[in-house]
Amino acid sequence: MSDPFFPLSLAPGAESPAPERVSAEAAPGVGRQALLAHFDALLQPERFKDYGPNGLQVEGRPWVRRIVSGVTASLALIEAAVACEADAVFVHHGLFWRGQDGRVTGWMKQRLALLLKHEINLFAYHLPLDAHPLLGNNAQLGLRLGLQAFEGLAGRFGDQALGWLGQRVDKAAFASPAELALLTERALGRPVTLVPGRDGPVERIAWCTGGAQGHFEEAIAAGAHAFITGEISEPQAHYAREMGVSFIACGHHASERYGAPAAAGHVAEQLGLFHQFIDVDNPA
Ligand SMILES: [Zn+2]
Repeated sequence: MSDPFFPLSLAPGAESPAPERVSAEAAPGVGRQALLAHFDALLQPERFKDYGPNGLQVEGRPWVRRIVSGVTASLALIEAAVACEADAVFVHHGLFWRGQDGRVTGWMKQRLALLLKHEINLFAYHLPLDAHPLLGNNAQLGLRLGLQAFEGLAGRFGDQALGWLGQRVDKAAFASPAELALLTERALGRPVTLVPGRDGPVERIAWCTGGAQGHFEEAIAAGAHAFITGEISEPQAHYAREMGVSFIACGHHASERYGAPAAAGHVAEQLGLFHQFIDVDNPA
């Protein structure tokens, strides 16, 4: 898919068949800075105004053979990465966010101490990982739901064009908001929260992974019949009923499980590195 926001998109050769899965022992490895350059070239963090630093957040050992990807740099994920003898962890939610008070105490001390003790590099990409047109969270969620964005600018909405707008791949409509909610439940393997808007066919569907409930009004303005995101807050239920646009909250974690393994797996394949996605379950 051509994308107006990612002129570089995937690197040449990305469409070629995937090589055999690389075993950790056979992986030749790559330097930390070269790996960072590959992630940056793919995800183009300089194009986003984000809530925290994208790229290398914690410096580990200089040479990387094994990458573990996950949604969040939680203690459980870092422990799993240690058990896998990973040289690098690649996540959507890193450790550092605007507004933190900056003290290395409590959970921050525990996570940082474990990374530093084992010299594991931490790479984190937030909005750039939501937005990548093929490997990002929105693209990968759309794939699971059988949705495709409209071509070009018509397929995006909202702040920094982070929201996606489109329809079913077969261009048919869902018979009702409930049918779309059921499909989402089946695709993600978990219950969702549906606040139905107008009853009847649902054709134009907006989606934005994670905690994007604040983008609901932009989705309504873009002409969506339904909006899918991870979380819901109190006001959105009223907006859904009053504006006739259905709201589906399918879980922040559940909606963002697919971008990190897609992007990390892609770069690992390019560089001949071992890669493993570890899903640390999260009900939220
Ligand atoms: Zn998120």
